[in-house]
Amino acid sequence: MKISRKLFLRKSSHLLASGVFVSPFFNLVSQNKNSDQKIIIIGGGIAGLYSARLLRDNGFQVTVLEASSTHGGRIRPLLTFSDYPVELGAEVILGEKSVYHREIRDKNIKFFNTSISENYFVCNGFLKDESEADSDDKFNRTQKIIQDIKFYKGHDLTVEAYLTNNNLDEGYKHIAEALVGNDRGTNNNKIGMRSLAKSLNDWKAGKNNYLLFNRSHLSAIEEITKIKDIKIIYDFPVNKIDYSGRGVILFDKKGRSVEGNKAILTVPISILKNNDIQFNPSLPLEKQSAIDKIGIDSGMKIILKFNKRFWGESSGSIISDGIVPTYTSYGKSRSVNNNILTAYIAGENANYLSDLGNKATQEILKDLNRIFGNSTASNLINESFIMDWKKEQYIQGCYSYPTLNENNSRDILKKSIKEKLYFAGEATNVNGHFGSIHGAMETGKEAVSEIIKDLS
Ligand SMILES: Cc1cc2nc3c(=O)[nH]c(=O)nc-3n(C[C@H](O)[C@H](O)[C@H](O)COP(=O)(O)OP(=O)(O)OC[C@H]3O[C@@H](n4cnc5c(N)ncnc54)[C@H](O)[C@@H]3O)c2cc1C
Repeated sequence: MKISRKLFLRKSSHLLASGVFVSPFFNLVSQNKNSDQKIIIIGGGIAGLYSARLLRDNGFQVTVLEASSTHGGRIRPLLTFSDYPVELGAEVILGEKSVYHREIRDKNIKFFNTSISENYFVCNGFLKDESEADSDDKFNRTQKIIQDIKFYKGHDLTVEAYLTNNNLDEGYKHIAEALVGNDRGTNNNKIGMRSLAKSLNDWKAGKNNYLLFNRSHLSAIEEITKIKDIKIIYDFPVNKIDYSGRGVILFDKKGRSVEGNKAILTVPISILKNNDIQFNPSLPLEKQSAIDKIGIDSGMKIILKFNKRFWGESSGSIISDGIVPTYTSYGKSRSVNNNILTAYIAGENANYLSDLGNKATQEILKDLNRIFGNSTASNLINESFIMDWKKEQYIQGCYSYPTLNENNSRDILKKSIKEKLYFAGEATNVNGHFGSIHGAMETGKEAVSEIIKDLS
């Protein structure tokens, strides 16, 4: 059994490849004309950096305003924990037909397919490897119910309600929670079936999952975006955007301002939901309502280094019925020295663990002791690191998820205003690729394409 069939529902959709690559780049107007135009990008995550590169390639003046003291946003490596960069945010390259996959291939950045790993599932209280799970009828029924989500055409309801309607066995519910809710950065009781099914059917990035071999996503993105050539102003948290005049003026709370002809806003949807940025004039009501409708929840990664690999030599993921829905062990192909397990938790369980602060690690070790018996995990723990994305001042959550009655909210969020204010960032992705690296890149590319079109 391949990881592609068992895990990450988003890539199990039937895919129509196409449309992702737009080569090499536009040039609808002359570079000379573009050089008069100063474009300000708010946010130095993937969407911001990629749009900065594309604008620079097309001759524009570009400045990125980044609230924090570093770029990368929701990609961040932990460099001192192991002999390979441990990813605290995005880790898996989802699909082989994406703009990100193409860029890393072009740069000869090494990566490998995650299907070389074996997955484990707690089924009705017992830990099973893939072949054992495969011969469990209730497990196979659970998989079928999950895979049928993409065919759902009924009235909108939560994934939780859909599972209940399908009489999903209690002892297997956590598998659906891990593979759907947690994978989407929340819980099944918050995800809308219609928007989830749409995103699965829209997915065009390909079926397989990949990991970078010996470097971080941040370093790959730095190379892809030629970051050294990009002007970034750090520690500039934009708190007001004035687009009432001819151009756009961006302010921070210290009263500093930066002016441009146009701006691309790439901040996480959480920042907009919390009204951390004031707009003059106010955002149109339909956009405000779209922002309210798109979901984002808490998300944590807790990185655990053990003295011994007690969870199975080749394991990739472990789907648990405890506080942590999914453990991944992607360090295996990258390090022979370190035995690292990553606990990935979103939604309600992330809120609970977040409130525990440093004590969260103990709670997770208890969970692992329960699965693997005795005090195995507690006895073998060496070091741990907690990454809590909700507590990051300028991120405030995991990644956007499809909500009940979301309808065309992402299309509305994405719409530019008055040829001055453009919107990018993962939550604005309308191709079903929200919540991903390549999805964020696509939105940056689309915003740049729109700017060029508006100027032509
Ligand atoms: C735990 C976790 C696991 C993930 N796993 C995967 C995975 O395996 N595969 C995958 O493809 N994707 C994954 N993702 C999703 C992926 O990381 C995101 O979709 C992507 O990084 C989002 O990029 P972005 O540019 O849209 O936003 P961000 O990276 O959030 O960038 C926005 C930037 O805006 C800045 N900012 C915020 N407010 C302001 C302000 N007021 N003024 C100026 N700047 C501001 C922020 O500091 C940030 O740098 C994961 C994300 C998380 C959190």
